[in-house]
Amino acid sequence: MTLSIQHCIDATFTSGIGQDYIDVFNPALGAKIGRIQCAEPLEVEFAIASAARAFNSWKRTPIPERARLMLRYQHLLKEHLEELTELVSQETGKIYEDAKGDVWRGIEVVEHACNIASLMMGETSEQVAHHVNTYSYMQPLGVCAGITPFNFPAMIPLWMFPLAIACGNTFVLKPSEKVPLTPTRLVSLFYEAGAPDGILQLVHGGQSVADVLLNSVDVKAISFVGSMQGARSVYQKATSQFKRVQACSGAKNHAVVMPDANKNKVIEHLLGASCGAAGQRCMALSAAVFVGESASWIPELAEAFKKITPGLATDGQAAYGPLISAQSKERVVSLIEQGIAQGARCLVDGRHFSLPDAPKGHWIGPTLFDQVQPEMSIYQEEIFGPVLSCLTVDTLDDAITLINNNPYGNGTAIFTQSGAYARQYQSEVEVGQVGINVPIPVPLPAFSFTGWKNSFYGDQHTYGKQAVRFYTETKTITSRWFEVEKVQPNMTIQLG
Ligand code: NAD
Repeated sequence: MTLSIQHCIDATFTSGIGQDYIDVFNPALGAKIGRIQCAEPLEVEFAIASAARAFNSWKRTPIPERARLMLRYQHLLKEHLEELTELVSQETGKIYEDAKGDVWRGIEVVEHACNIASLMMGETSEQVAHHVNTYSYMQPLGVCAGITPFNFPAMIPLWMFPLAIACGNTFVLKPSEKVPLTPTRLVSLFYEAGAPDGILQLVHGGQSVADVLLNSVDVKAISFVGSMQGARSVYQKATSQFKRVQACSGAKNHAVVMPDANKNKVIEHLLGASCGAAGQRCMALSAAVFVGESASWIPELAEAFKKITPGLATDGQAAYGPLISAQSKERVVSLIEQGIAQGARCLVDGRHFSLPDAPKGHWIGPTLFDQVQPEMSIYQEEIFGPVLSCLTVDTLDDAITLINNNPYGNGTAIFTQSGAYARQYQSEVEVGQVGINVPIPVPLPAFSFTGWKNSFYGDQHTYGKQAVRFYTETKTITSRWFEVEKVQPNMTIQLG
């Protein structure tokens, strides 16, 4: 029997009335595990209206009470860590360790939201003019909405709704139609934690469902994470409706390898950061830029690539899982073919990898290219597969110029033992997250997470502490007082 995945509209879990169905698969087994009935526009509008009603009382709920909901939610998420990890593995094919990391990074954001009382403090200034003080409050916006991608079904929804709701907003979540199981459980746990009815709504479906959110006048702010095409379209549509928008987009992340780096660590990190999670991370390293002599390490890197294989979540030896879908695999295979046809040298070719235990899984073995040139498709496009392209340059300046000319700017890393190289790189590279001997520099939620250039559109206050700015309006009050009249000794003052 196929599992019918439920929406959560007006605090009621329901399969809905939609007539369009989308099947959900376990990508490691190529087996159908469920299906969604895409929400009808009327259902989405109903969810938005319910969230708008819930906002009227939720915005008045005292901050400590909102924080306590987050504390209970954080506790429940930890209690259900194994179950959530299983769900992530089931619908993404991620190996256990990656799936658990997906949930943990989300829990950290909820932990951050528990601190909402100090995060939402305003500012004060006394005596800005004679007898005048100014102070400000941060107040919630209303109904906010989130549209999330397939690659982190726990972490990315948790980037959004806990902070938005802790700020006093209500929220409508539309998760990726490819991975609806984990977000649905995240929502049911939120209600189990004691969330008042209607403050979080869940609607499943594809772009047409997202469009209803983008067009609704009652949705005040949109958080989006996904591909560049999706991000651009969402940004354009939502801003044309004068909404507040933040859209985290695609990536092409470079690692710079200096000749003074620790070779063994470089090889280990390049392998893990390019092939881990099957390369389906927005922060995956997909281009390695070898400076000068370090290019002589590429053959050793190729040997390391040959030693790892993908596999099932239950296989403790597997380095990573499958790609999300047959279409994704086709696309990655086609890009590898284009790389070969355009003259790059394929040192390790993962196209023909198969797993006898799971012949229908969407497997790609680790793939390594060298002699890659900037005009080749494997360099131009975000591959989103376990493929690393090696380029060589003479100097750090050349590496920085190459990276700054790339249209994306999500994450990057430099491997070096020189403080001078590291300082130059962190200061001159045009990328949002920079790692120094750290391959995937995703910060804790106390910091912000934003790409540059085509990796991000809109309001930069994303992810953690900074997101509170995105999910609130600031109200600034300027107040004058008059001197109390001198009390005469024979005057009586009436109290009450
Ligand atoms: P996607 O853009 O195909 O889909 C993401 C979400 O947007 C889904 O919910 C989908 O239904 C919806 N969607 C797609 N097109 C839309 C449109 N035109 N209008 C409205 N909604 C639309 O992305 P994906 O394949 O699920 O995820 C992979 C992509 O996400 C990669 O490009 C990756 O780099 C990116 N990503 C970026 C970050 C980041 O923080 N920058 C994090 C994770 C993933």
